[in-house]
Amino acid sequence: MAQSLTQAQTRNDYGMLSDRTRMRMVERLRQSGVKDERVLAALYEVPRHLFVDQALATRAYDDVSLPIGHGQTISQPLTVARMTELLFAGRKQGKVLEIGTGCGYQTAVLLKMGAEVYSIERVAALLDTARQNLRAARLVHARLVHGDGHFGLPEAGPFDGIIMTAAAKTLPDALISQLAEGGRLIMPIGDNEQHLWLIENTSTGLQKTRLDPVKFVPLLPGRT
Ligand code: SAH
Repeated sequence: MAQSLTQAQTRNDYGMLSDRTRMRMVERLRQSGVKDERVLAALYEVPRHLFVDQALATRAYDDVSLPIGHGQTISQPLTVARMTELLFAGRKQGKVLEIGTGCGYQTAVLLKMGAEVYSIERVAALLDTARQNLRAARLVHARLVHGDGHFGLPEAGPFDGIIMTAAAKTLPDALISQLAEGGRLIMPIGDNEQHLWLIENTSTGLQKTRLDPVKFVPLLPGRT
């Protein structure tokens, strides 16, 4: 008990120091080409240090991916910002499905963007951590689901946006069928060589665009 109080205290102290650090992170994102002010504001507002292990808190605002346990990583801020910008495309998104909750950081950014968020994670222990992290950040409105994101979440669809934060080898059919008309799916596809893809469900059919080269952990089958 004494130990966890000390940890919470340290996290809080760091939170107060993090204001300028967060501002610098946002400036770097702007210089790297992120333009959507709502996305920049969301990344400024979400206390990223609450989503990583306390031992890594001082590196939370660097533009690096960091380990979150179970062989998984939290994406670097630029990747989160870029994917969020592509997902929202300057519009307000209603319902968004995230696949790969991880530590819950991307989930928090989506909530800050005002979306109704559903998020699926295959590792139960990570989902628990994400729930605690989101509570610590006072963002509690996401529906967190323990499951295999290959199948999406048909009972809650269709979605205006789908964002996947693990790399699939191919585009899962189930996700396409859960995309609302006008909806946007953003995800990494590939094996050794991966790219971000944007799939738009337009009135004249699917439009697929290959974007930046990326490096994500793989989308794995089943749940544990
Ligand atoms: N958005 C996360 C990134 C986590 S890394 C964050 O901000 O921290 C990718 C996550 O996808 C991992 O937590 C991994 O367990 C999860 N994942 C991998 N395959 C999955 C699947 N089939 N369904 C749901 N989650 C999956």
